[in-house]
Amino acid sequence: MRIAVLYFSHETVSFLANDTTLDDFVYPGSPAAGEALLGSNPRSYMGGFVKMAREFDGVELVGIESPLWPKTGTGSGWITNDAYETYLGKMLAELRAGGSFDGVYLCLHGAMAVRGVARPEADIARRVREVVGPKVFIAATFDLHGNEDEEFLKYADLSFVVKYFPHYDDYLQGERAARTLVRAIRGDYKPAHATLKVPIISATVVQWTGASPWMDLVQRALVWEATEPDVYVNAFFGFPFADVPDVGMTFQVLTNGKPELAAKICRDMAATAWRQRDALLNSTKVHTIPEGVALAKQAVQRKETPVVLADHSDRSGYATWLLKEIIAKDLARTLIATIADGPAIAKLKAQGAKVGDAFDMEVGGVADESAGEPVRIRGTILKAVENRGQLWVCVGFGRDNVLVLTPYLVQVIDHVPLLALGLDIGAFEVFAIKSRVHFRRGFHDNGFAKTILLVEPTEPFLGTVRLDKLPYKNVGLKQFYPYGNPTFSA
Ligand SMILES: [Zn+2]
Repeated sequence: MRIAVLYFSHETVSFLANDTTLDDFVYPGSPAAGEALLGSNPRSYMGGFVKMAREFDGVELVGIESPLWPKTGTGSGWITNDAYETYLGKMLAELRAGGSFDGVYLCLHGAMAVRGVARPEADIARRVREVVGPKVFIAATFDLHGNEDEEFLKYADLSFVVKYFPHYDDYLQGERAARTLVRAIRGDYKPAHATLKVPIISATVVQWTGASPWMDLVQRALVWEATEPDVYVNAFFGFPFADVPDVGMTFQVLTNGKPELAAKICRDMAATAWRQRDALLNSTKVHTIPEGVALAKQAVQRKETPVVLADHSDRSGYATWLLKEIIAKDLARTLIATIADGPAIAKLKAQGAKVGDAFDMEVGGVADESAGEPVRIRGTILKAVENRGQLWVCVGFGRDNVLVLTPYLVQVIDHVPLLALGLDIGAFEVFAIKSRVHFRRGFHDNGFAKTILLVEPTEPFLGTVRLDKLPYKNVGLKQFYPYGNPTFSA
């Protein structure tokens, strides 16, 4: 049993000014082929898929050379048509030349936005199908932030989406994809699916599945899977910062040869979401940055620390609004992680910056209007650490504050990167980070922070919850709740 394995993933904020280019996919370790690809993300979808596939006798996995996640993280816009066609073209050519396959595994994200390609993941599936022919089973894994509609499963057979945000179950979905793909190849699973879009669009910051009603939606899917053997229920919450026509919430249900059951469960899930649409949109409070920093200061006075101040809206990594307000309000013992500033890091690298050096530079800002103005920081370099070819610099300033400077946007989701820098976590009262929901993994779900404050700038910049302020070209926002008055019946 030969299974080809391909990876092509990005969550594209199409409102960013800097396109994602050919070169952004090239860094130590990427592109990756063979065992390097199969071992590239051992704790994520890929790791789960490979581990489970190899539990079965006679399975051969063929790692097709694939570009890994761009080095810009999620801090770059539209993928250029050149980058997309170059990498996909190479993958298809290798697939064509690679002999016959019984199955294909596509490790995708779902929120890729490519110039000139309306539905990239469906396009990938369609073109893989053209190469491998109608009899080969195609399975994929997705992030729940994927923007998908019925197109994808026209060309692919199986789809598995993480259920939780933070995405705790990516490895598990990889395992499920492998087991079901092997069963399909053996003739033991006959994929029959249903897909339904629900006209709800939401900013990702509100989609935390640790609380109702998002938690209830997950629970409903889990109950269906527990009740009905061989059923898989996928809920895409959608990613509104990609200006693509298939944006918004989507449900997919897979069954073993039971299309009516798939349709029934899909209608139930869609109706459940639609009923709760108002609560889904209003489950999370987002403060303006001045409000949030004032509330953080009060929480420190009441000793309700540590406090997390999460600027959910910064999509370039360069935004200085929160840093500026922290300095203006004279917060102490605050960690600001991170401000992205590629040129500043390049300069520090060229200077051979080292621990103990005096630091006096303007940092961040100017990437676009959403990043704000650069902020001048005078302090001392506390750490300068090389990580995967990237230099990260920690600067001590003010009253025991530490600023972490990085070349690209970093979403701090737990203490791991901070400990890797050698920072003393216990020394901080306030953690000012750039994250929407993923930080809850290491700062909230585990009981660490006593106060959680989500903030965004006063103006509605490109990562705002006020989606009606975004310059969409491919999305009619009025077709979605809560921006229009759509009708829906499942
Ligand atoms: Zn996601």
